Amino acid sequence: MTELPLEHPQGAEALASVAKTYPVVATFLRLVREDTQSDESSTTAPSTPSQRTLLQTLQTEIAAKAAALQVALKIWQTDQGVLCVHLPASAGCEEAPHLALLAHIDTAPDCSGRGVKPQLICNYQGGTIALSSGLRLTTQLCPQLNAHRGDDIIVTDGTTLLGADDKAGCAVMLTLIDRAFAGDLIHGPLSFIFTVDEEIGRSADYVPLAELGADFGVTIDGCAQGELDVATFNAAACTVTFKGRAIHTGSACGKLINAAKLASSFVLQLPENEAPETTAGQDGFYHVYKLTGGVEQAQVHLLLRDFSTDGLKARKTFVENLAAKINRIYPRSVRVEIRDQYVNLAAYLQTRPQILELCRAAYAKAGVTPVEHWVRGGTDGSNLSARGLPCPNIFTGALNCHGPYECLPVGALLASLNCSQALIELTAAAELA
Ligand SMILES: [Zn+2]
Repeated sequence: MTELPLEHPQGAEALASVAKTYPVVATFLRLVREDTQSDESSTTAPSTPSQRTLLQTLQTEIAAKAAALQVALKIWQTDQGVLCVHLPASAGCEEAPHLALLAHIDTAPDCSGRGVKPQLICNYQGGTIALSSGLRLTTQLCPQLNAHRGDDIIVTDGTTLLGADDKAGCAVMLTLIDRAFAGDLIHGPLSFIFTVDEEIGRSADYVPLAELGADFGVTIDGCAQGELDVATFNAAACTVTFKGRAIHTGSACGKLINAAKLASSFVLQLPENEAPETTAGQDGFYHVYKLTGGVEQAQVHLLLRDFSTDGLKARKTFVENLAAKINRIYPRSVRVEIRDQYVNLAAYLQTRPQILELCRAAYAKAGVTPVEHWVRGGTDGSNLSARGLPCPNIFTGALNCHGPYECLPVGALLASLNCSQALIELTAAAELA
């Protein structure tokens, strides 16, 4: 087999030319140049001021455009910084369901989002992409690239993340707002929600659902072209605390209880084939993500994940039984605390099947084959669904999110835009039971 040549980024003109052809790309490039990383250690809302500032700027611009075009809209920023844009229905679509689209403005804390310098691979031919920093983006690392031969691909310079997660989603929403303003989009009551702090798990709580009054929502966030996220894990976090008894080693015989050893024996009794590194598809797991301690005290922090409610319950019971077993040998040495985190959004979508039917029809209208996906994690939609807004997720086309290999095929971004627009148009003509 002959080896494919290295693919190198083109100059800035190539990117400028694509941005000129596609306004959604121009908007995307503008957004990623702003550093809006969220910060888990922060106690403010939003966690970083730059998120509020960028959304404030967008608010001013949208409001000015609406005023110039004499378009009616309601636009406001919440105390936590969430930007809400509500467009009243097009004439004749007033009775249509109220759809809310959501995307998040923050980028992941895992990798710097400061000084993002997007570059363009023109007409990708399937080889390894040489990022300017010297990093190599291979198809082994990202097999999904193979589906994008012939497409233009936006990449980083290898020193930051790209921010396509989720500025691609934000760019799609801003483009749709422009199309609605231009009269190119027939829609029912329609809300666009630009959320903050999604990457640190706080965004869904900040969405003002009661004020919005939407019938259903769709997040436009992450993942490869065609993906339609219809299920997420049920999730709980678990802290197991072990109490030992410290005695001088010289006279410890028969008296010392080593909490660190109890903790490790607990970990070793978790099923080896039910960990994130040994499961895939629809299997749940136990994930030990932190283990600390010494003789006196030790702690095991673990995540419990399962697509079924009964499955999650069984995992909680398993952990409690394991603790009870150790307690029978060393009384009162183990304490288990379990906290529910999020629920599988499929349970909510099943009660309103029309929502996924609309999404499937929107993909078909946009000429995109849907790949229905069970997310091995949570989405904003899991929490929003639990709060009363059933909410599947539409792809943006972004790949390898949260690091320097992040990239965005332009064709996938356009497909995301087309699916989102089709969903709005089909919802305008729909009746929800
Ligand atoms: Zn995201």
